[in-house]
Amino acid sequence: MKIICQKCNVEISKQVTELDDLSLINENDGEAYIPEVFFIVANSEEDIGTKGTIIINLKDLINSNYHPDESRLNGCCGYDGLDGINRVCVNNHDIGSENSDCWMPHFIALEPHLVKLVK
Ligand SMILES: [Zn+2]
Ligand SMILES: [Zn+2]
Repeated sequence: MKIICQKCNVEISKQVTELDDLSLINENDGEAYIPEVFFIVANSEEDIGTKGTIIINLKDLINSNYHPDESRLNGCCGYDGLDGINRVCVNNHDIGSENSDCWMPHFIALEPHLVKLVK
């Protein structure tokens, strides 16, 4: 599967597969939450991110820039993702949030109404 921007169809992820083995999820702060080449869809209270968001590794995000609105780019040494969507596709469409600060597991949470999973 790949993830594309709903507005312009640009690919915003490398090839990713749904992660079945949830023992590979790593909840340590400052480390990757999900291994590369996988995604999960957040669907329960215990999952990170809000319901329906597509979670991928930072390294699997492509064709993406930081949000032009700098008020969304807060964090002490990374990006905390607490001030709204902080990642856009190369054509400047909102896609989701990078969570990469030291006090949280690192991941990208893509918004289900802004992106699409395709074969
Ligand atoms: Zn786009
Ligand atoms: Zn920090």
